[in-house]
Amino acid sequence: MSWEKEKQIVIAAAQELSRKGLVIGTMGNVSLRIPGSGEAGLIAITPSNKYYDTLTADDIVVINSDGEVVEGKLKPSSEKMLHAGIYRKHPEINAVIHFHSQYSSTVAVSFNSIPPILEDQVICLGGEIRVADYAFSGSQELIDNAIAALDVNKAVILANHGALCIGHTMRDVFTNCEMLEKTALVYINAALLGKVNLLSASAIEKAKSLFNSGYGNQ
Ligand SMILES: [Zn+2]
Repeated sequence: MSWEKEKQIVIAAAQELSRKGLVIGTMGNVSLRIPGSGEAGLIAITPSNKYYDTLTADDIVVINSDGEVVEGKLKPSSEKMLHAGIYRKHPEINAVIHFHSQYSSTVAVSFNSIPPILEDQVICLGGEIRVADYAFSGSQELIDNAIAALDVNKAVILANHGALCIGHTMRDVFTNCEMLEKTALVYINAALLGKVNLLSASAIEKAKSLFNSGYGNQ
């Protein structure tokens, strides 16, 4: 078996997602770009329909950028082409997490975006979080909609479905998932209280320049 270290990083993140309640059961998926895999663009990804607490390194599937299995006995995640599409579009990104958390999913049902409301939201995630137009799981339309709505940000919400975050490292992307979930909760609470004060334009500009310098992520 190859790429043991990368597979263990994927397992650790998937199990932490489950422990923290960001996914239920076998939902969601986690992937890591395999360093130095060049043109082949190898990706270690969680398998389809397997409980995270039972995962071993043998269960993690390695695919190439066309979604073909390079190593592993199990079927890769049904969202493998979503992950592959993001790595192709964002060469600086090395980890992707797709999850179905409660507050981000609430936004996915009730809003079209989360406007810039918190400094740390903009510093880590890039600003307004858009909700990608709905398309069913695993479809090319979902991939196109998600990549378009993600734009240059580190997080996107998928209408009536869930959310997705990206990052330079698995630790960065996990932090981005937690940051998105907290931002979604604050936005829902503020909307319920009947008053949402946006960040000022000058604060957004300062926070965005920190985002662009990589301050929020290592
Ligand atoms: Zn999903």
